[in-house]
Amino acid sequence: MIAEVIINRSSKKLNRIFDYNIPNDIKDLIVIGSKVLVPFGNTKTLEEAYVVGIKENSDYKDKIKDIAKLEENLTDKQIDLAKWMSKRYFCNVSDCIKLMLTPGTRTKNKENRIQDKTINCVYLKKDIEEINFDIDIGKIKSEKHKRVLKFLKENEGCTISEIEGFTDCSRAIVNTLVKNGYLEIIEKKIQRNPLINKNVEKTENLKLNEEQEIAFNKILNSIKENIYREYLLYGVTGSGKTEIYLQLINKVLELKKTAIVLVPEISLTPQMIDRFIARFGKEKIAVLHSKLSIGERHDEWNKIKENKAKIVIGARSAIFAPIQNIGIIIIDEEHDSSYKSESNPKYDAKEVARKISKENMCPLVLGSATPDLNTYYNAQQGNIELLKLTKRANESKLPDVSIIDLKQELANGNRSMLSNSLYSLIEKNLKNKKQTILFLNRRGFSTFIMCRNCGYTVKCKNCNISLTYHRFENKLKCHYCGYEENIVKTCPECHSDKIRYFGTGTQKLEEEVHKQFPNAKTIRMDIDTVSKKNSHEDILNKFKNEGIDILIGTQMIVKGHHFPNVTLVGVMAADSSLNIDDYRANERTFQILTQVAGRAGRESSDGKVIIQTYNPDNFAIKCAKKQDYNLFYQTEIELRRQLKYPPFCDIILINFNSLNEKEIIDTSNLVYEYLNENLKKEKFRVFKPMPSPIDKIQNKFRWRIIIKGNMTEEANEILNNCLKEIYNKNLKYTRVSVDVNPNNMM
Ligand code: ADP
Ligand code: ZN
Ligand code: ZN
Repeated sequence: MIAEVIINRSSKKLNRIFDYNIPNDIKDLIVIGSKVLVPFGNTKTLEEAYVVGIKENSDYKDKIKDIAKLEENLTDKQIDLAKWMSKRYFCNVSDCIKLMLTPGTRTKNKENRIQDKTINCVYLKKDIEEINFDIDIGKIKSEKHKRVLKFLKENEGCTISEIEGFTDCSRAIVNTLVKNGYLEIIEKKIQRNPLINKNVEKTENLKLNEEQEIAFNKILNSIKENIYREYLLYGVTGSGKTEIYLQLINKVLELKKTAIVLVPEISLTPQMIDRFIARFGKEKIAVLHSKLSIGERHDEWNKIKENKAKIVIGARSAIFAPIQNIGIIIIDEEHDSSYKSESNPKYDAKEVARKISKENMCPLVLGSATPDLNTYYNAQQGNIELLKLTKRANESKLPDVSIIDLKQELANGNRSMLSNSLYSLIEKNLKNKKQTILFLNRRGFSTFIMCRNCGYTVKCKNCNISLTYHRFENKLKCHYCGYEENIVKTCPECHSDKIRYFGTGTQKLEEEVHKQFPNAKTIRMDIDTVSKKNSHEDILNKFKNEGIDILIGTQMIVKGHHFPNVTLVGVMAADSSLNIDDYRANERTFQILTQVAGRAGRESSDGKVIIQTYNPDNFAIKCAKKQDYNLFYQTEIELRRQLKYPPFCDIILINFNSLNEKEIIDTSNLVYEYLNENLKKEKFRVFKPMPSPIDKIQNKFRWRIIIKGNMTEEANEILNNCLKEIYNKNLKYTRVSVDVNPNNMM
């Protein structure tokens, strides 16, 4: 038999099939999906490869070599998925397969390979199990020997050190007993279990309210009837979505099926996992996220493979967990941008989940308080069934939100970062021993320019996206179409000279808070302070338990946490996310403000949120104040329609990087001509190649092409063909990659 294999190398030219002979001794073990080692080219070491097909004969009959070794088996479904992803996300099949292998088993660095962890367990030999040591002492004279045997009779399978500890006998005695045939030592695999120290009290199903009941039953029907259907569970934070997930999973387990729950990495907190453990116990649950050690991930993966885990909870890549017989896939906070991978393979976990749900004929449930505009649009179009939860399940009220106009503050002579209202509310909170969160809405590193007098920002005339300031050229540029303008010194709108570059930091804010409230205890959470294994969690726990008055942070503080004592949330300048050079700026602003607002007063009724902004009339901010998703959606979807942004088209980004400027320009022009010619009939708009916003990193030039259109099968084929032609040119310096609907346009 012949195996068709793909070599695990990232070279684009090796993204093709090679034939190998399957030796007789492993003939029955090799399947589509096997990870094998093969001799390849002139290298001395064996190469890792994956079997993607099996056939009787090869055209290269006499020249082909043998597979050297079988390492691990995937399923043919996984291989199909990898092949599909390779086309869809323009990457090598081997890159996709890697996502599906047991973590920590890369063959290249053998010495770093994660081993199964084992311990030695001591057992009585079979034929002496029946001996009653009190009566029949047999040949055993020594008291110590007797003690050990007696102990083992009651505690079979314990470790040598346990025997030492409980019987006061040394290891040598155990060894003698083994030598004389009374005991045997068996090596047993144990699991490094990230949940090992968890002791959570069991909880029971709550009685669902009417809206929950309706949603629950709809989804349950799809589970029972084995049909793929997609649902959007849309309900404010606290409306009882998680309770529905738990009860659905309960049903799925009753039907002897399994479940995958995806959660944004940052929301995958101990509290969140506890809720699942409390309902289902820890044995059935496998948790996968990047904070686990590789050994833990290795073992969790095996726990799934061996069918011990029935529920997988994890971040994006947990969608590739080797779980069988799936009855439901749940994606919580589906609007979160972390579901789209930004590194190769640049897959979208929502799309992959859709494909896996279809294959398993099970429902896919997307949950959010602020659904992704695309998802909501699809629900409006009838492609996704919309299920609404309009009330908070535990009857707690939404917080009271006020918008503060920072232009007005400035006009009144307040030059500090804290408006007068925010200042007095913090003061009051400190007096009442309540906690405050100050949120700096900052993302990425783009700096934009804004008039502090009237809130005007300079936007591109073609794209309606904020222009980014390029310090070195002293110019403002549009990152989409390349339009550029000279820097402005006075505001084109109100002619004031209060033009400012934005990008305020948390450190500066903390200093300012200390200056104004010298006795306040503060803690800071941002990229700089969060880096160690658990430090994100540490900071939040400190804030919760150690009498800290004010938490100052970025993005990270807004998700999935529950602070009963927080009654005030201040958003320092809502504008930062409004002015990112991204067509999703309004959407991101609305999402983040709605989420932050949800942090205040979740239990008591006196939650207060202050949103400081230079754009008090912006509709995203106004809608967030009212927590009105619907109004936001209606306004934003019209803008998208007019300007032709997703969901009305896909945005395809072709990135080039190269050490050679001439080669990169030539190549990007070649790609441009090819695509412009071929994508015309697909009604695509291909923009001319131009340098990327960050046009040089580590001496490598960066260029890009932006394409707008609807990503059809045909268009995908054309793009893949174009890439193939480019790879066949054997370019010396230039690499090309494609990203569909990227999160980040830099
Ligand atoms: P979400 O996932 O939408 O944020 P949760 O499921 O976490 O909402 O519910 C919020 C709170 O309300 C939780 O404390 C939960 O235990 C409680 N809750 C949910 N459903 C019910 C219900 N049917 N009856 C009573 N309390 C509920
Ligand atoms: Zn102005
Ligand atoms: Zn533009």
